[in-house]
Formats: sequence, structure tokens, C-alpha cells
Amino acid sequence: MEQRRSFIKDLLVSTEIDREVNAKGWVRTKRGNKQVAFVALNDGSTIHNIQLVIDLTNFTENQIKEITTGASLSVNGMLVKSMGQGQSVEIQAKEIQVYGTADPETYPLQKKGHTLEFLREIAHLRFRTNTFGAVFRIRHAMAFAIHKYFNDRNFYYLHTPIVTGSDAEGAGEMFRVSTLDIENPPKTEDGKIDFTQDFFGKESNLTVSGQLEAELGATALSNVYTFGPTFRAENSNTPRHLAEFWMIEPEMAFYDIHDNMDLAEDMLKYLIRYSLENCIDDLKFLENRLIEEEKNKPQNEKSEMTLIEKLNLILKDDFVRLTYTEAIEVLKNSTPSKKGKFQFPVEWGIDLQSEHERYLVEKHFKKPVILVDYPKDIKAFYMKQNDDGKTVRAMDILFPGIGEIIGGSQREEIYDKLAARISEMGIPEKDMWWYLETRKYGTVPHSGFGLGFERLILFVTGMANIRDVIPFPRTPKNAEF
Ligand code: ATP
Ligand code: MN
Repeated sequence: MEQRRSFIKDLLVSTEIDREVNAKGWVRTKRGNKQVAFVALNDGSTIHNIQLVIDLTNFTENQIKEITTGASLSVNGMLVKSMGQGQSVEIQAKEIQVYGTADPETYPLQKKGHTLEFLREIAHLRFRTNTFGAVFRIRHAMAFAIHKYFNDRNFYYLHTPIVTGSDAEGAGEMFRVSTLDIENPPKTEDGKIDFTQDFFGKESNLTVSGQLEAELGATALSNVYTFGPTFRAENSNTPRHLAEFWMIEPEMAFYDIHDNMDLAEDMLKYLIRYSLENCIDDLKFLENRLIEEEKNKPQNEKSEMTLIEKLNLILKDDFVRLTYTEAIEVLKNSTPSKKGKFQFPVEWGIDLQSEHERYLVEKHFKKPVILVDYPKDIKAFYMKQNDDGKTVRAMDILFPGIGEIIGGSQREEIYDKLAARISEMGIPEKDMWWYLETRKYGTVPHSGFGLGFERLILFVTGMANIRDVIPFPRTPKNAEF
């Protein structure tokens, strides 16, 4: 009788032994001698492999030859207590069916220790490495935990559009969506491209944020959140930017900026705690990977903490909260500023650069920092204006090794102030009529923020490049796979 397939994750912790089981997966390694072969099988359910013990007298030479690194197979056998080191149980193979062989001459994942750069070029196969298995299991766990966090707190998951006709979101350069013939587009009388003939009858783009639409939902459902892909056509080739990334954007009616910061801090701590409670095997693997990597680094670049220590540190204390203006003072009085070491000089009104953010978090406070009350000129039109006439109720959360992980604000809910700001910034009011109407009818104080999902995954996994925490990264000049 055909055995039901068990996941390796469950077999490894099974207390019911000496029974027939079936496992399916991919061969990681094979070793052995003339009598017996030991195969490490992995099915993605866990970082750990199960050992298959194959008595060679029970199989033909050809069968054994097919079982190489990368081959996929199904095995029936006895789950028994393991005599060897490193595992508690193993499978004594009785029947093996090889689904797909993997020619050792050409299979790219033959040896261990490929660089992350090389693995990016074979992103279709990199899931089969321990590192990427761990990263993508953690990515899944974080997505699940986000939905759980909000569901448990009366938030509704709102699907905001991916194609948008409003170019007022103001968060960055956009990708155009069009079905016009780019070789020969229809023109208006004055020679411009006639977008009224385009698919949506107007210029449309891929969204940079679901916030404006989330705000509409919050003015009736109270608490909503989006969790979807967002797109930015900025040519920023950094380890922290993607052209296509996933963002979580909660929006809460009746929340002021302080409630907003409280929620953001609580959520980040919840997610990190969730990873420690549910992904510890993968985290330990990634932690060891980093320790190995650091061995080759010069002493002054070595990290003082391990990955798991870093995660625990976030849970320990309250995040530091201070105003942008106070942060500018800290930066001005800092050694790098006095010695002219910052690439971008510090003065009130500048948009903080990554070097400034990281100085505050990593050198000065040594914990996460929430900055509030930014100059209005460097922030979006919808942020609530403070009475000083100079600043808005914006908040950014800065994380060690990452810089900005969350950006948010209290929103301007007063119709006249919002309308004035919209015209001041030259945004056509006709594009924003629906947004403005929520301030005309039953307006409420409300707030929200955007958490970059990949930046969260970077932090939790300790990976250094954002291209390594999304399955198929989209970056300038790269849309392979
Ligand atoms: P940054 O200054 O780091 O470029 P931003 O201020 O442009 O970010 P927001 O518009 O505030 O970003 O977006 C909210 C969050 O989305 C950011 O805090 C960050 O976590 C994430 N994010 C923004 N841009 C990107 C990107 N290109 N790739 C990945 N994540 C991003
Ligand atoms: Mn931001």
C-alpha cells in the first residue's frame, strides 16, 4: 500500500518510531561506502534534513547512481532511531522512486559555499540552499504574523489598487501603465500624447503606496491595513531599495501621532518576538552563517552581537523618541559632523541621509529611534501641520543596520488646511476630489504608517542585501525570472 507522504519536519520530531513512512524531497548530499549509502534529504519543511540509510544490496547499481545531489525522490522505509550522530531518527530505505535526476556534471549547486551574488544569478535554484530556505520560511512566517497581528486587533485587510490614476501620492517616481502603441502614440492637436485614448482614458501608473485609498477605508471601517506590492521607478541601486517591494500600511481613525508610534513599536516588537518563537531553527542557522562570514572580516568590522542577540535587544527597551529638531542637534554635536566626516553636511531642513540615521541608531542611542515633527518641506502634502508653521506630524522609525524601516504620520484632517497645502504644492485639485471629500464629510483625526516588508525581513534574517530577501528581485536593469 502506498504510504501517505509525511513532511520531514514532522518525521524529525516524531516519537512514533519503527513504522513505515514515506518522505519526498531533494537530495542534499550522499556519502557512504560499498555496503551502505547515507543520503540527506530535504523537502523545504525545515532547515534540517532527514537521513536515508540505503543498504546497497537491496538496490541496483543504476538506481544508486541516479541518487545524486539535486535529484528528487520519494522513499518508503522504516522510521527508526538513529545510531549516528546529529539526528534522532532516520529512514531505512525500502523502496526509492527517483522523479528527476540532476546531472552532477552540470547541476549548479554541487558544492557548498556559493556566493550570494552567484546565487542571485540562479534565483530559480537558490531556494534549494539552506540560506534561502531559511530566508523564505521566515518571510512567510512574518507575512502570516502581520495578518494575525492585525486580525487580532480589529483591523480589516483592504486591497487597494495596484494600477492608479492619481499621480499625487508623491512617494517617488512611477512606472507608467499603458496599452498605447509606443512606436506611434495618438497625439492631441498640440502634439502631446493623447492619453484619453489610452486604456484607462487617462495617464495611469503602478502604485507607489496604498495609503490614500487606505485612508478612505479607515474613515468608515476605523482600522484597516494594506499588504501588497508597491513600485518605485527610482534609479537607486542600493542594498535597501527595490523597484518592486511589498508594503504594509495600516491606517487608523481616531489615532493621533502618539497612538501611531505606539502601534508601530508594538507591531515591530510583536513580529520580532514571533520570529524568535516560531522560526528559531532558521534563525540559528542564519546566525551561524553570519558568524562564519564575520570570521573573514577585520576586527573593527566584526559585530559585537549575534543575530539572535540583536533581535532580543529590540524587545528589551522602549524605542527612543525625539524630534527631528533634537536629532539635528545631536548630529551637529557629533564627532563625525565636527570632523567633517559626513558626506552630507547637517543642518535644519535637510532630508536625513542614511549615514545620519545610522549614526543616531548605531552610534549614539544604540537602539531603535523614532523621529517626529519633520520640516514640512521635505514631507508629503497629507501630513498634519503643527502649530509652529514649520513642521508636520511625521514619524520615521530607524533601525540598526537598516535605517528607515517605517515612515508614517498623522494625516491632515482639516479640509481648509489640506486644500491649501494641495494647491501650495501644485497638485491639481481635480485629481484629489475624492480624498478631499473625506475631510468634508465626517472627518476624523487619523494616522497611519508604511512598513517596508523587505526591510523587516532584512533585519530579522540579518541578510545584508534586499535582493536576497525577496524571491525574484526587481531592480534597475534586472527583471530576470
Ligand atoms: P527611503 O528614504 O529609505 O528611500 P522612503 O522615505 O522613500 O524610503 P516611504 O515612502 O516612507 O519610503 O515608504 C515607507 C517604507 O517603505 C519605508 O520606510 C521603507 O521601509 C520602505 N521602502 C521605501 N522605498 C523602498 C524601496 N525602494 N525598496 C524597499 N523598501 C522601500
Ligand atoms: Mn519615508
